[in-house]
Amino acid sequence: MSRRALIAGNWKMHTTVMDACHLAADIARLCADVPDRDVLLAPPFTVLSEVSHVIRDSAVIVGSQNVCWEAKGAFTGEISPVMVKDAGGAAAIVGHSERRQIFHEDDALINKRVRGSLKFDLLTILCVGETLEEREENNTFAVIEGQIRQGLAGVDAVHMGKVVIAYEPVWAIGTGKTASKEQAQEVHAFIRKLIETMYEKTIAEQLRILYGGSVKQDNVDALMAQQDIDGALVGGAALDAESFGRIIHFR
Ligand code: PEP
Repeated sequence: MSRRALIAGNWKMHTTVMDACHLAADIARLCADVPDRDVLLAPPFTVLSEVSHVIRDSAVIVGSQNVCWEAKGAFTGEISPVMVKDAGGAAAIVGHSERRQIFHEDDALINKRVRGSLKFDLLTILCVGETLEEREENNTFAVIEGQIRQGLAGVDAVHMGKVVIAYEPVWAIGTGKTASKEQAQEVHAFIRKLIETMYEKTIAEQLRILYGGSVKQDNVDALMAQQDIDGALVGGAALDAESFGRIIHFR
């Protein structure tokens, strides 16, 4: 089963309007010759509209770094799926480890976000990943299984076509440490098997599972060659058009 690769850039809390427009334009230009893969940019909320505008004639899509479950209301500091779409976005990242660790978002809250995002038809990237301590205590699979079962609770098979899972070991995010291709593949295969038991084989086979954690131009090719790695969620290297361009052009 061949799945269309997805390379997503998470800009985190970086870029002013001007930086964002330049970066998006450079990336859109670098993507012009890669028709067989999807490219997603997740800039800060403040520049979603501008970035959507800059990439409008390219194949790049735009998404938010988080999303609320309601269309509107008294949710100070949040962004709704309707607002994301209104700003030109078509996707949302949910459950990033920085949301889990710094802002204490738990699986129940993340599940509300996942379901809200899917209700409004956004491509929904659910991030999961274990800490170093959890890995060292041999709890990686249990942690990942818990995050996926709870994150996808109440999500029916019909909506799974709009779900992407990003495996991001917490110890590899922004640290320069990458999971080895074998470590990543092992967890990706586990995730696919788990989705098969939760849903069905075709859904598991079609599911795109991204790897995230210090993906760079010099490790992307080896990671992407793994059977169950269908793309990358890139943080630091996504802020540099040349590096991100090389990652998009993985071989
Ligand atoms: C991320 O933010 O999702 C990420 C993987 O960051 P980095 O590539 O910098 O490790």
